[in-house]
Amino acid sequence: MIQTDILIIGAGPTGLFTVFEAGLLKLKCHILDALPQPGGQLAELYPKKPIFDIPGFPEVLAGDLVNNLMEQIKQFQPGFTLGERAETIDKQEDGTFIVTSDKGTQIHANSVAIAGGLGSFEPRKPLIENLDFYEDKGVDYFIRDPEKFRNKKVVIAGGGDSALDWSIYLSNIASEVTLVHRRNEFRGALDSVEKVQELKNLGKIRLITPAEVIDLKGEQRLEGVVLEEDGATRTIATDYLIPLFGLTPKLGPIANWGLEIEKNAIKVDNTLDYQTNIPGIYAIGDVNTYPGKLKLILCGFHEATLMCQSVYQRMNPGKKYVLKYTTVSGIDGFDGSRKEAEKAVVKSIS
Ligand code: FAD
Repeated sequence: MIQTDILIIGAGPTGLFTVFEAGLLKLKCHILDALPQPGGQLAELYPKKPIFDIPGFPEVLAGDLVNNLMEQIKQFQPGFTLGERAETIDKQEDGTFIVTSDKGTQIHANSVAIAGGLGSFEPRKPLIENLDFYEDKGVDYFIRDPEKFRNKKVVIAGGGDSALDWSIYLSNIASEVTLVHRRNEFRGALDSVEKVQELKNLGKIRLITPAEVIDLKGEQRLEGVVLEEDGATRTIATDYLIPLFGLTPKLGPIANWGLEIEKNAIKVDNTLDYQTNIPGIYAIGDVNTYPGKLKLILCGFHEATLMCQSVYQRMNPGKKYVLKYTTVSGIDGFDGSRKEAEKAVVKSIS
């Protein structure tokens, strides 16, 4: 079982910055996110868009902000469990918590910070009756490791950027890529559409439109998909079906943890520390609500900072915390690397 001081549910900007503020207080963090990569909405929805209201950055690409946050927290060596959703929580007699993911990973933490944003992003699934049976047996909704598809037959379904981009990418890895879309027109970037056409002409992508996957075949695992095309059906052999129909955020299982919920957000005490109605469980960033709440990145950063102070008090009752400026105290990563490096520089200068 993974042991940590703070379990952060959500690797969006709020969750990532929490690691930094906790690190200053020598609190160890583990981050759990349903998505395969950190960054929350910034990485998933708008990595190439510039943000203009991050203090000190007149303009920063969302993807770059995520990279910077990752760089800023790496000295505190947070643990990451990605691609897994927080499913259940069990409060222990000593007031600590064990959170279990949908894949069975267990994390034992003194405190839990829910930084779940709009909720966990769940893939939109096609309406195919026997779909459940083939999940993880040939049906994948995320591409975590493209190498998995090397020399395999792959059918990608969808008409947006993800479907186009992955078809292009996998055309160099898979033995066969078939892109199926229910319309003749694609919603993705024009240059991606043109690239797919070009690869089709070169025989590297098979394009089937307008068509839909309506059934799946295979005894133990996926062996073929049934397509409906112009009112007729045909079966094509495949090792994988990757439906890429976008993601929808859902508060999901957290909604059943006994927390006070208002309009799909978790109510917190904003006069103090963003704690929920369950002591030791906090909610920060877009996922929470309180009078005057603004769903902005910088508000999440502020909430994370105050929350970490509260966890520090929870873990060190009665111990007086003295606020230290990083300009004065510096940053001492868990491996002491920064201070050691600074000492070495000072030594070599003197
Ligand atoms: P999120 O970024 O939503 O991250 C939450 C993470 O939690 C997700 O990765 C999710 O997968 C994970 N999660 C949720 N539930 C679970 C679970 N049960 N188990 C595991 N993981 C879970 N804000 C600004 O300040 N300035 C802007 O200019 C700006 N522009 C925007 C433009 C667009 C197009 C959009 C969509 C938003 C914009 N925002 C902007 C809003 C900003 O992105 C959010 O305020 C910010 O992402 C909130 O960060 P967060 O960390 O709280 O949540």
